[in-house]
Amino acid sequence: MSEWGEPVYRAQQIWQGLYRQYWSSPEQFTNIPKSVRMLLAENLEFKALSLATTLNSSDGQTVKSLFKLPDGKSIEAVLMRYEKRNTLCISSQAGCAMGCVFCATGQMGFKRHLSSGEIVAQVMYYAFLLHGENAVVTNVVLMGMGEPFHNYDNTLAAIDRLNDPQGYNFGARRFTISTVGLVPAIRRFAAEKRQVNLAISLHAADDDLRTSMLPVNKRYPIDDLLAACREYIAATGRRVTFEWALINEVNDTPEQAILLANKLKGMLCHVNAIPLNPTLGYSGQATTHERAEKFKQILNGHGIPCTIRLRRGIDIQAGCGQLASQL
Ligand code: SAH
Ligand code: SF4
Repeated sequence: MSEWGEPVYRAQQIWQGLYRQYWSSPEQFTNIPKSVRMLLAENLEFKALSLATTLNSSDGQTVKSLFKLPDGKSIEAVLMRYEKRNTLCISSQAGCAMGCVFCATGQMGFKRHLSSGEIVAQVMYYAFLLHGENAVVTNVVLMGMGEPFHNYDNTLAAIDRLNDPQGYNFGARRFTISTVGLVPAIRRFAAEKRQVNLAISLHAADDDLRTSMLPVNKRYPIDDLLAACREYIAATGRRVTFEWALINEVNDTPEQAILLANKLKGMLCHVNAIPLNPTLGYSGQATTHERAEKFKQILNGHGIPCTIRLRRGIDIQAGCGQLASQL
């Protein structure tokens, strides 16, 4: 603004237009002179994403959007409505380099990192949509496409921007970053002592099984990963969530549950288990209700809290990467 010879408070007016009014094109900025609006239109890009497809689940509670990026690549974001919460699941990359065998995003490979603006724009898209219904986003999870800690700087820059009290003012504690387990990034995150929640995709309790499902485990085996998680807990006092996609006869066995309970003993943590969402490129199937319950009971019996999550939006391919991989 100062380069354009405008008073510095113009920047604040534009920031508030973007993050408080949810404006997304220059002509909407009626709080600034028309001449400045024209400068905005000529010099700045307002649209980081364009909507390509929207799908609503049959119960109307889950909405999935596929966005096209300026270079033609696609990403997805999902809104899950609960009774008292509106949780967004957003992407940090187009595709993913980590190659987890059961994951549709992993199966498509890495395309590119998202910019911080492209991450922010997914949230603002749904913030605007909910605003129209007199509702608000209550939680944001980085569990869409991509590995957020592989794109550390842009992901954290996006969280910081959304967190800005002068702007969208979305509390750090309402974000959750989910990682496949990049140990150096977890250590860095712990040292930064952020209030952001951390979820770890564990999925297996011994290294052979985990490496066969998540190749990254070769580089960062389970014990190193759990040591980094303990560092995070010690640094922040925050509870870690371990994610576990229950795959029939693979990692839903009593043996895995007991092994897991022993590994997590004494840790401030919680296990979030969800039946596998089967994908085209992987032959594994979802666990059964009975096997999931047994898995949970074993963990609970060892004093480890465990919740079996419901799968949402299955009828709209709202599992990680499942819509983009069909296009
Ligand atoms: N890359 C990050 C975040 C995105 S994936 C990570 O891996 O943690 C979000 C979660 O969905 C992860 O726990 C991932 O393991 C899980 N997931 C991926 N594919 C799945 C599938 N087909 N069924 C169930 N969970 C899946
Ligand atoms: Fe990437 Fe996460 Fe999918 Fe693994 S589970 S391939 S880290 S998006």
